[in-house]
Amino acid sequence: MPQEVLRVENLKVYYYTIRGVVKAVDNVSLTLNRGETLGIAGESGCGKSTLAWSLLRLVPPPGRIVDGRIVIDGIDITRLDHEELRKVRWRKVSMIFQGAMNALNPVMPIWLQIAEPFIYHLGMSKEEAYTRAVELLRMVGLDESFAKRYPHELSGGQKQRVVIAMAIALKPDVLIADEPTTALDVVVQAQILNLLKKLVRETGVSLIIISHDLSVIAELADKVAIMYGGKIVEYGPSEKIYKNPKHPYTQALLKAIPRLRAPRMKLSYIPGQPPDLRTPPPGCRFAPRCDQAMPICSKQEPPLIEVDKDQFVACWLYSTSEKLKNKNNE
Ligand code: SF4
Repeated sequence: MPQEVLRVENLKVYYYTIRGVVKAVDNVSLTLNRGETLGIAGESGCGKSTLAWSLLRLVPPPGRIVDGRIVIDGIDITRLDHEELRKVRWRKVSMIFQGAMNALNPVMPIWLQIAEPFIYHLGMSKEEAYTRAVELLRMVGLDESFAKRYPHELSGGQKQRVVIAMAIALKPDVLIADEPTTALDVVVQAQILNLLKKLVRETGVSLIIISHDLSVIAELADKVAIMYGGKIVEYGPSEKIYKNPKHPYTQALLKAIPRLRAPRMKLSYIPGQPPDLRTPPPGCRFAPRCDQAMPICSKQEPPLIEVDKDQFVACWLYSTSEKLKNKNNE
Protein backbone atom coordinates (compact mmCIF):
# COMPACT_ATOMS: atom_id res chain seq x y z
CA MET A 1 0.00 0.00 0.00
CA PRO A 2 1.59 3.35 -1.04
CA GLN A 3 2.34 5.62 1.88
CA GLU A 4 1.30 9.25 1.44
CA VAL A 5 4.06 11.72 2.32
CA LEU A 6 2.62 15.01 1.04
CA ARG A 7 -0.93 16.32 0.75
CA VAL A 8 -1.78 19.78 -0.56
CA GLU A 9 -5.42 20.76 -0.08
CA ASN A 10 -7.13 23.76 -1.68
CA LEU A 11 -3.98 25.85 -1.53
CA LYS A 12 -4.23 29.55 -2.36
CA VAL A 13 -1.11 31.71 -2.57
CA TYR A 14 -1.58 35.36 -3.51
CA TYR A 15 0.83 38.30 -4.02
CA TYR A 16 -0.52 41.60 -2.68
CA THR A 17 1.10 44.12 -5.02
CA ILE A 18 0.33 47.83 -5.40
CA ARG A 19 -1.10 47.02 -8.83
CA GLY A 20 -3.50 44.38 -7.53
CA VAL A 21 -3.73 40.89 -6.08
CA VAL A 22 -1.93 38.24 -8.15
CA LYS A 23 -3.58 34.86 -7.59
CA ALA A 24 -0.46 32.82 -8.40
CA VAL A 25 -1.73 29.54 -6.92
CA ASP A 26 -5.50 29.35 -6.83
CA ASN A 27 -7.14 26.37 -5.16
CA VAL A 28 -4.56 23.68 -5.91
CA SER A 29 -4.76 20.16 -4.45
CA LEU A 30 -2.40 17.21 -4.99
CA THR A 31 -0.83 14.23 -3.21
CA LEU A 32 2.54 12.49 -3.33
CA ASN A 33 3.45 9.01 -2.07
CA ARG A 34 6.77 7.91 -0.61
CA GLY A 35 9.34 7.19 -3.34
CA GLU A 36 7.09 8.65 -6.03
CA THR A 37 8.02 11.37 -8.53
CA LEU A 38 5.55 14.10 -9.46
CA GLY A 39 6.21 16.41 -12.40
CA ILE A 40 4.65 19.88 -12.45
CA ALA A 41 4.59 21.48 -15.89
CA GLY A 42 3.28 24.64 -17.49
CA GLU A 43 4.43 27.87 -19.13
CA SER A 44 6.38 30.52 -17.22
CA GLY A 45 4.14 32.47 -14.87
CA CYS A 46 1.59 29.66 -14.35
CA GLY A 47 2.37 29.36 -10.62
CA LYS A 48 4.74 26.35 -10.59
CA SER A 49 7.56 27.98 -8.64
CA THR A 50 5.19 29.73 -6.21
CA LEU A 51 3.63 26.33 -5.48
CA ALA A 52 7.13 24.91 -4.83
CA TRP A 53 8.15 27.79 -2.52
CA SER A 54 4.94 27.43 -0.55
CA LEU A 55 5.81 23.77 0.21
CA LEU A 56 8.73 25.15 2.26
CA ARG A 57 6.77 28.24 3.41
CA LEU A 58 9.32 30.35 1.52
CA VAL A 59 6.95 32.47 -0.60
CA PRO A 60 8.70 35.85 -0.92
CA PRO A 61 6.79 38.98 0.17
CA PRO A 62 4.38 40.46 -0.86
CA GLY A 63 3.17 36.89 -1.35
CA ARG A 64 1.51 34.77 1.28
CA ILE A 65 -0.44 31.57 1.77
CA VAL A 66 -4.03 32.73 2.01
CA ASP A 67 -5.85 29.45 2.46
CA GLY A 68 -5.45 25.68 2.33
CA ARG A 69 -3.30 23.02 3.99
CA ILE A 70 0.13 21.55 3.23
CA VAL A 71 0.59 18.30 5.16
CA ILE A 72 4.08 16.76 5.04
CA ASP A 73 4.50 13.42 6.80
CA GLY A 74 1.47 14.21 8.97
CA ILE A 75 2.50 17.78 9.86
CA ASP A 76 0.43 20.71 8.57
CA ILE A 77 3.25 23.16 7.84
CA THR A 78 0.86 26.08 7.25
CA ARG A 79 0.29 26.12 11.03
CA LEU A 80 3.89 25.95 12.26
CA ASP A 81 5.65 28.88 13.92
CA HIS A 82 9.10 29.98 12.80
CA GLU A 83 11.01 27.70 15.19
CA GLU A 84 8.90 24.62 14.36
CA LEU A 85 9.33 25.36 10.67
CA ARG A 86 13.13 25.36 11.00
CA LYS A 87 12.97 21.74 12.13
CA VAL A 88 10.91 20.73 9.08
CA ARG A 89 12.77 22.59 6.34
CA TRP A 90 15.63 20.63 4.76
CA ARG A 91 14.85 17.59 6.98
CA LYS A 92 11.29 16.82 5.85
CA VAL A 93 11.24 18.90 2.68
CA SER A 94 14.14 20.33 0.74
CA MET A 95 14.61 22.15 -2.53
CA ILE A 96 17.01 22.56 -5.43
CA PHE A 97 16.28 26.18 -6.33
CA GLN A 98 16.23 27.38 -9.90
CA GLY A 99 19.71 28.75 -10.76
CA ALA A 100 21.09 27.76 -7.33
CA MET A 101 24.34 26.55 -8.85
CA ASN A 102 25.17 30.21 -9.54
CA ALA A 103 24.56 31.08 -5.88
CA LEU A 104 27.32 28.90 -4.40
CA ASN A 105 29.63 30.91 -2.15
CA PRO A 106 32.68 31.69 -4.35
CA VAL A 107 35.11 31.93 -1.42
CA MET A 108 34.11 28.80 0.48
CA PRO A 109 35.38 25.29 -0.41
CA ILE A 110 32.74 22.89 -1.69
CA TRP A 111 32.92 20.53 1.28
CA LEU A 112 32.17 23.31 3.77
CA GLN A 113 29.15 24.50 1.80
CA ILE A 114 27.74 20.97 1.91
CA ALA A 115 28.78 20.41 5.54
CA GLU A 116 27.31 23.61 7.03
CA PRO A 117 24.01 21.99 8.13
CA PHE A 118 25.93 19.17 9.85
CA ILE A 119 28.01 21.64 11.82
CA TYR A 120 25.31 24.21 12.61
CA HIS A 121 22.13 22.06 12.71
CA LEU A 122 23.47 18.73 13.96
CA GLY A 123 26.48 19.96 15.96
CA MET A 124 28.98 17.62 14.24
CA SER A 125 32.73 18.25 14.49
CA LYS A 126 34.46 19.57 11.35
CA GLU A 127 36.11 16.17 10.77
CA GLU A 128 32.78 14.29 10.95
CA ALA A 129 31.10 16.90 8.76
CA TYR A 130 33.90 16.64 6.17
CA THR A 131 33.49 12.83 6.01
CA ARG A 132 29.73 13.19 5.55
CA ALA A 133 30.23 15.86 2.84
CA VAL A 134 32.57 13.53 0.93
CA GLU A 135 29.97 10.72 1.19
CA LEU A 136 27.37 13.07 -0.31
CA LEU A 137 29.75 14.12 -3.08
CA ARG A 138 30.21 10.44 -3.95
CA MET A 139 26.42 9.95 -3.98
CA VAL A 140 26.13 12.64 -6.66
CA GLY A 141 29.01 11.23 -8.71
CA LEU A 142 31.90 13.49 -7.60
CA ASP A 143 35.02 12.07 -5.92
CA GLU A 144 36.85 13.43 -2.86
CA SER A 145 39.13 15.62 -5.01
CA PHE A 146 36.16 18.00 -5.44
CA ALA A 147 35.78 18.58 -1.70
CA LYS A 148 38.52 21.20 -1.40
CA ARG A 149 37.84 22.93 -4.71
CA TYR A 150 36.04 26.27 -5.08
CA PRO A 151 32.94 26.83 -7.26
CA HIS A 152 34.91 28.55 -10.07
CA GLU A 153 36.89 25.31 -10.53
CA LEU A 154 33.73 23.33 -11.37
CA SER A 155 31.69 23.03 -14.59
CA GLY A 156 27.96 23.87 -14.63
CA GLY A 157 27.00 20.19 -14.34
CA GLN A 158 29.41 19.64 -11.42
CA LYS A 159 28.03 22.71 -9.60
CA GLN A 160 24.49 21.38 -10.07
CA ARG A 161 25.61 18.05 -8.55
CA VAL A 162 26.95 19.97 -5.52
CA VAL A 163 23.62 21.79 -5.16
CA ILE A 164 21.81 18.43 -5.27
CA ALA A 165 24.18 17.07 -2.58
CA MET A 166 23.34 20.09 -0.39
CA ALA A 167 19.59 19.53 -0.88
CA ILE A 168 19.72 15.87 0.18
CA ALA A 169 22.20 16.43 3.04
CA LEU A 170 19.60 16.04 5.81
CA LYS A 171 17.80 13.12 4.10
CA PRO A 172 14.50 14.90 3.36
CA ASP A 173 11.27 12.97 2.75
CA VAL A 174 10.38 15.28 -0.14
CA LEU A 175 12.86 16.85 -2.56
CA ILE A 176 11.69 19.63 -4.89
CA ALA A 177 13.75 20.33 -8.02
CA ASP A 178 12.75 23.64 -9.65
CA GLU A 179 13.92 23.64 -13.30
CA PRO A 180 17.04 21.60 -12.34
CA THR A 181 18.39 21.36 -15.88
CA THR A 182 17.82 24.91 -17.14
CA ALA A 183 21.04 26.48 -18.51
CA LEU A 184 22.74 23.08 -18.87
CA ASP A 185 23.58 21.58 -22.26
CA VAL A 186 21.62 18.50 -23.34
CA VAL A 187 24.35 15.99 -22.45
CA VAL A 188 24.74 17.37 -18.90
CA GLN A 189 20.93 17.69 -18.68
CA ALA A 190 20.61 13.93 -19.28
CA GLN A 191 23.30 13.22 -16.65
CA ILE A 192 21.49 15.34 -14.03
CA LEU A 193 18.14 13.67 -14.78
CA ASN A 194 19.79 10.24 -14.46
CA LEU A 195 21.31 11.32 -11.15
CA LEU A 196 17.90 12.39 -9.79
CA LYS A 197 16.42 9.08 -10.95
CA LYS A 198 19.21 7.19 -9.15
CA LEU A 199 18.69 9.18 -5.93
CA VAL A 200 14.96 8.40 -5.92
CA ARG A 201 15.73 4.71 -6.44
CA GLU A 202 18.51 4.49 -3.85
CA THR A 203 17.24 6.81 -1.10
CA GLY A 204 13.46 6.44 -1.48
CA VAL A 205 13.02 10.23 -1.47
CA SER A 206 9.80 11.56 -3.01
CA LEU A 207 10.63 13.97 -5.81
CA ILE A 208 8.72 16.92 -7.23
CA ILE A 209 10.26 18.08 -10.48
CA ILE A 210 9.14 21.41 -11.89
CA SER A 211 9.75 22.30 -15.50
CA HIS A 212 8.27 24.15 -18.46
CA ASP A 213 9.68 21.28 -20.55
CA LEU A 214 7.40 18.23 -20.67
CA SER A 215 10.18 16.09 -22.16
CA VAL A 216 12.28 16.63 -18.99
CA ILE A 217 9.34 15.57 -16.81
CA ALA A 218 8.65 12.52 -19.02
CA GLU A 219 12.12 11.18 -18.10
CA LEU A 220 11.31 10.97 -14.40
CA ALA A 221 7.73 11.42 -13.32
CA ASP A 222 5.28 8.74 -12.17
CA LYS A 223 2.51 11.32 -12.26
CA VAL A 224 2.10 14.76 -13.76
CA ALA A 225 0.23 17.94 -12.86
CA ILE A 226 -0.28 20.46 -15.67
CA MET A 227 -0.72 24.02 -14.38
CA TYR A 228 -2.28 26.92 -16.24
CA GLY A 229 -3.12 30.34 -14.83
CA GLY A 230 -2.47 29.29 -11.21
CA LYS A 231 -4.62 26.16 -11.40
CA ILE A 232 -4.11 22.48 -12.10
CA VAL A 233 -5.93 21.73 -15.35
CA GLU A 234 -4.88 18.09 -15.75
CA TYR A 235 -3.46 15.65 -13.21
CA GLY A 236 -2.75 11.93 -13.30
CA PRO A 237 -0.37 9.06 -14.09
CA SER A 238 2.29 10.26 -16.54
CA GLU A 239 1.75 7.32 -18.90
CA LYS A 240 -1.90 8.30 -19.37
CA ILE A 241 -1.16 12.00 -19.73
CA TYR A 242 1.58 11.49 -22.33
CA LYS A 243 -0.32 8.81 -24.29
CA ASN A 244 -3.79 10.26 -24.02
CA PRO A 245 -3.79 13.91 -22.92
CA LYS A 246 -7.34 15.15 -22.42
CA HIS A 247 -7.07 18.88 -21.73
CA PRO A 248 -6.62 21.07 -24.83
CA TYR A 249 -3.72 22.86 -23.07
CA THR A 250 -1.88 19.59 -22.34
CA GLN A 251 -2.48 18.50 -25.93
CA ALA A 252 -1.04 21.79 -27.21
CA LEU A 253 2.00 21.57 -24.90
CA LEU A 254 2.77 18.04 -26.11
CA LYS A 255 2.35 19.04 -29.76
CA ALA A 256 4.92 21.80 -29.22
CA ILE A 257 7.68 19.27 -28.35
CA PRO A 258 9.95 18.80 -31.39
CA ARG A 259 10.30 15.11 -32.35
CA LEU A 260 13.48 13.96 -34.03
CA ARG A 261 12.01 10.82 -35.61
CA ALA A 262 8.68 12.27 -36.75
CA PRO A 263 8.18 13.37 -40.38
CA ARG A 264 9.23 16.99 -41.05
CA MET A 265 6.44 19.36 -40.11
CA LYS A 266 5.92 22.91 -38.92
CA LEU A 267 6.49 23.15 -35.16
CA SER A 268 3.25 23.81 -33.34
CA TYR A 269 2.86 26.62 -30.78
CA ILE A 270 0.12 28.00 -28.54
CA PRO A 271 -1.03 31.41 -29.79
CA GLY A 272 -1.58 34.24 -27.29
CA GLN A 273 -0.24 34.79 -23.79
CA PRO A 274 -0.98 33.22 -20.39
CA PRO A 275 -3.52 35.30 -18.43
CA ASP A 276 -2.64 38.24 -16.19
CA LEU A 277 -3.29 36.65 -12.79
CA ARG A 278 -4.47 39.96 -11.30
CA THR A 279 -7.44 39.90 -13.65
CA PRO A 280 -7.84 36.36 -15.00
CA PRO A 281 -10.60 35.84 -17.57
CA PRO A 282 -13.91 34.55 -16.22
CA GLY A 283 -14.70 30.85 -16.62
CA CYS A 284 -11.90 28.68 -17.99
CA ARG A 285 -8.62 30.63 -17.90
CA PHE A 286 -7.45 28.93 -21.10
CA ALA A 287 -10.57 29.95 -23.06
CA PRO A 288 -9.02 32.96 -24.92
CA ARG A 289 -6.36 30.60 -26.38
CA CYS A 290 -8.39 27.42 -26.77
CA ASP A 291 -9.41 26.31 -30.26
CA GLN A 292 -12.18 24.12 -28.79
CA ALA A 293 -13.79 26.78 -26.59
CA MET A 294 -17.60 26.74 -26.22
CA PRO A 295 -19.91 29.47 -24.91
CA ILE A 296 -19.94 28.00 -21.39
CA CYS A 297 -16.15 28.15 -21.21
CA SER A 298 -15.95 31.91 -20.79
CA LYS A 299 -18.85 31.97 -18.31
CA GLN A 300 -18.23 29.23 -15.78
CA GLU A 301 -15.08 27.67 -14.38
CA PRO A 302 -14.82 23.94 -15.22
CA PRO A 303 -14.38 21.67 -12.16
CA LEU A 304 -11.44 19.23 -11.96
CA ILE A 305 -13.14 15.86 -12.47
CA GLU A 306 -11.93 12.27 -12.90
CA VAL A 307 -12.38 11.37 -16.57
CA ASP A 308 -10.43 8.11 -16.56
CA LYS A 309 -9.02 6.10 -13.62
CA ASP A 310 -6.85 8.56 -11.64
CA GLN A 311 -6.80 11.05 -14.55
CA PHE A 312 -8.38 14.38 -13.61
CA VAL A 313 -9.22 17.19 -16.06
CA ALA A 314 -10.73 20.66 -15.67
CA CYS A 315 -12.45 21.17 -19.01
CA TRP A 316 -16.08 21.47 -20.08
CA LEU A 317 -15.43 19.03 -22.95
CA TYR A 318 -15.47 16.25 -20.36
CA SER A 319 -18.23 17.49 -18.11
CA THR A 320 -20.73 14.77 -17.31
CA SER A 321 -23.23 17.53 -16.70
CA GLU A 322 -24.29 17.74 -20.36
CA LYS A 323 -27.52 19.40 -19.33
CA LEU A 324 -25.66 22.23 -17.65
CA LYS A 325 -23.34 22.55 -20.65
CA ASN A 326 -26.25 22.69 -23.10
CA LYS A 327 -28.18 25.07 -20.91
CA ASN A 328 -25.27 27.49 -20.86
CA ASN A 329 -24.70 27.07 -24.58
CA GLU A 330 -28.26 28.24 -25.31
FE1 SF4 B 1 -11.07 24.86 -23.93
FE2 SF4 B 1 -13.46 25.15 -22.78
FE3 SF4 B 1 -11.94 23.11 -22.11
FE4 SF4 B 1 -11.27 25.55 -21.34
S1 SF4 B 1 -13.09 24.40 -20.72
S2 SF4 B 1 -9.92 24.03 -22.20
S3 SF4 B 1 -11.92 26.73 -23.11
S4 SF4 B 1 -12.84 23.51 -24.12
